Amino acid sequence: MSGSCTVVVGCQWGDEGKGKMVDVLAEDVDLVARYQGGANAGHTVHVGEEEFVLHQIPSGIIHPGKRCLLGNGVVLDLLQFFEEYEELEKRGVQLTGRLGVSQRAHLLLPYHRILDRAIEARASERIGTTGRGIGPAYEDKAGRRGVRVADLADPERFRALLQRGVERVGSQIESLGNGLFEAIDRTIELSARLHDLATDTGSEILDGLAAGKNVLLEGAQGTALDLDHGTYPFVTSSNTTAGGAAIGVGIGPTLIDRVVGVVKAYTTRVGNGPLPTGFDREMDERMRELGGEFGATTGRPRRCGWFDAVLARYAARVNGLTELAVTKLDVLDTLPEVAIAVEYRTPEGASTREFPADTRSLDRVEPRLEMLPGWETDTTGARRMEELPANARRYLDRIEELTETPIAWVSVGTRRGQIIKVT
Ligand code: GDP
Repeated sequence: MSGSCTVVVGCQWGDEGKGKMVDVLAEDVDLVARYQGGANAGHTVHVGEEEFVLHQIPSGIIHPGKRCLLGNGVVLDLLQFFEEYEELEKRGVQLTGRLGVSQRAHLLLPYHRILDRAIEARASERIGTTGRGIGPAYEDKAGRRGVRVADLADPERFRALLQRGVERVGSQIESLGNGLFEAIDRTIELSARLHDLATDTGSEILDGLAAGKNVLLEGAQGTALDLDHGTYPFVTSSNTTAGGAAIGVGIGPTLIDRVVGVVKAYTTRVGNGPLPTGFDREMDERMRELGGEFGATTGRPRRCGWFDAVLARYAARVNGLTELAVTKLDVLDTLPEVAIAVEYRTPEGASTREFPADTRSLDRVEPRLEMLPGWETDTTGARRMEELPANARRYLDRIEELTETPIAWVSVGTRRGQIIKVT
């Protein structure tokens, strides 16, 4: 008997509604594991009247009884982790025995945040990071000076590693600020509690699959923010794409059965960097209001634009998508017309359907928009494809055609039940 392994990956610049899709898909799984990123992610899940915003703990935790893991590919902010842990407990979520963290996961330590803000403040070209220390933590990992969950086994050694980190950061920036030493003390206090949750995520997943359990690997951010495949340097510091899932939890890629790509029915982007299908100011503001496009982690306004099929096709390729989940279709309900970018025109007049590697050229391309009639009908009550207005179905069909990927799910509202499973 063997269970199935599904990856859920964002196909734009993050904030596609992965939290909601993981929540929907978690119904049929036993194990949910996050494979990259840190507390810069913000997944919002609505259950009944309640809203949960999760930054590090996988969204699957809202489903009673599911085991949730943080893979080796994440950078684990210990202080934020326990804040989230306590908040969930306070709200009645039973957590005992339900959380595991990879022994190989790197820790995001209080000095990483200080470094992140200092680097961003001095940069000539700002990335627009969340200031949560993610970049510096991954830099320490790649620089082979990181501190891992396994290092918590020996408190003396852990203390020495922290001391070494503080000294190194202290030699790079003028002031470490008053809060740092308090945060370090608190980190040491909580270290044994985190170590109690340490596990080998790869072998847990392998054993689970062998025992017939279904597994969901949850990505954060999105394809265009992938360190290798995104709009470099305006990216996050990890591999958000599906290939990162195998590495980020410690299994072989042959174990993955399905890759669900989550796309919003339009495009948004937070932080700096190009957005080829970006709206003019008036429409941008309108969509931001309609879609509630403000960051779950930072509250920053997101820039909005039409659905970009060039990016979505690229995402289908680099992730090897087996299916799409289109979210926030309802946000377009009141528009008389909708559009999809089907290709880009370069300043030299050439047309391309390929997402360019040179990020600067992305600033200069003009999207060729295909206009489609809107549906001007409330879709939030639709539960089957046949219940969607014909123009909404036409819009979805066009997305399917352009991305060459079947749509398996359509989300029409924030709530768990507001979902269409395409059969
Ligand atoms: P994530 O990082 O990809 O999980 O995305 P976020 O949680 O940051 O943003 C998604 C936001 O859209 C959340 O507030 C969700 O509740 C909301 N959302 C998800 N799906 C839908 C949908 O189909 N319709 C509407 N209106 N909102 C949705």
